Amino acid sequence: MTNLAMSVVRGRRDTAATHAVPEPGPGEGSVLVRTLLVGVCGTDLHLVGGTHRASASGPDAPRLVLGHEAVGLVVEAPPTSGFAPGQLVTGIVRRPCAECAACARGDWDFCTSGAYTERGIKGADGFGRTRWRSEPAYLVPVPDRLGELGVLVEPMSVVCKALETAFYVARRGPSTPARLLVTGAGPIGLLAAAAGRDAGLDVTVLDRMRTGVKPDLVTTLGAAYTDDLGTLADGPRFDLAFECSGAAGLIGPATALLGQAGVMMLIAGGAADPGSVPPMLLRANAALVGTVNAGRRHYAQAVDTLLRVDRSWLCRLLTRRVPLTSWQSALDRDDDEVKVVVEF
Ligand code: BGC
Repeated sequence: MTNLAMSVVRGRRDTAATHAVPEPGPGEGSVLVRTLLVGVCGTDLHLVGGTHRASASGPDAPRLVLGHEAVGLVVEAPPTSGFAPGQLVTGIVRRPCAECAACARGDWDFCTSGAYTERGIKGADGFGRTRWRSEPAYLVPVPDRLGELGVLVEPMSVVCKALETAFYVARRGPSTPARLLVTGAGPIGLLAAAAGRDAGLDVTVLDRMRTGVKPDLVTTLGAAYTDDLGTLADGPRFDLAFECSGAAGLIGPATALLGQAGVMMLIAGGAADPGSVPPMLLRANAALVGTVNAGRRHYAQAVDTLLRVDRSWLCRLLTRRVPLTSWQSALDRDDDEVKVVVEF
């Protein structure tokens, strides 16, 4: 059977095609997999549209086989691989670089060199072929009970990482998160809603669709659905918000619905257009964290830190002293001033 692939020419829009590709060579890995299903996501749309940042390349650019969400059946596997023919698997998308400490310890999602590859996205052909190969270390067994729904393992892995991170950040706050707001009812938003319900959270999903499959899927989960952000302002505040639509314009209004120590996670976006969540925030696993006031221990930390900072440098911060009798003059500052103090 011919090995057929879904592919694009990187950086060139409208080049999506199905074409015959050579059988995967052993260099691609010792386990041969026959694809059953491949999921298509926003990243694929960017790759096809030539707007993905990994797309830039010259006129002779090779075709890239797409597909990073897949479920397949093992056809061939060495006995030592831990996999057996007939077994369902999915492939891990990102492969570590050989340069950074994060990749060396298996945290390739925090790669600092940028030299990682991603199958079907950056520097390596994907799983959107009749047959592909992988090293056993980058295959994940899919239980038979999950069957072809194994195609959702990769997007759910992205959601699970976000949920784990959200709970980690929320631990600095006073209580365990109970309420989750999800903006965007695409695949990631819906999987986030399902994972949120699974984690025992009270979930509300916001999307612009008024009727149809999305509201239905949300309410079936036991989550609330709305197409009107305004209606949420009067309700209880959210502990977590997952922005899954990619629209930067939702970050502000969704953040305004957070309660004390609420956590806003940005999961979708990455498009080059200005209305999109800035790609760098996602790519760098960056955190924007609001903070106010300080506890008793921070006062103790402040004293210790000040003791360690050069004393004469600190003195230079006090740029002006005013007597109590004209303390009001401390309120007028010029741009070159730092700290004005009132002398008693
Ligand atoms: C994939 C991730 C990948 C990201 C950036 C997403 O669609 O699910 O695994 O890291 O795109 O390329």
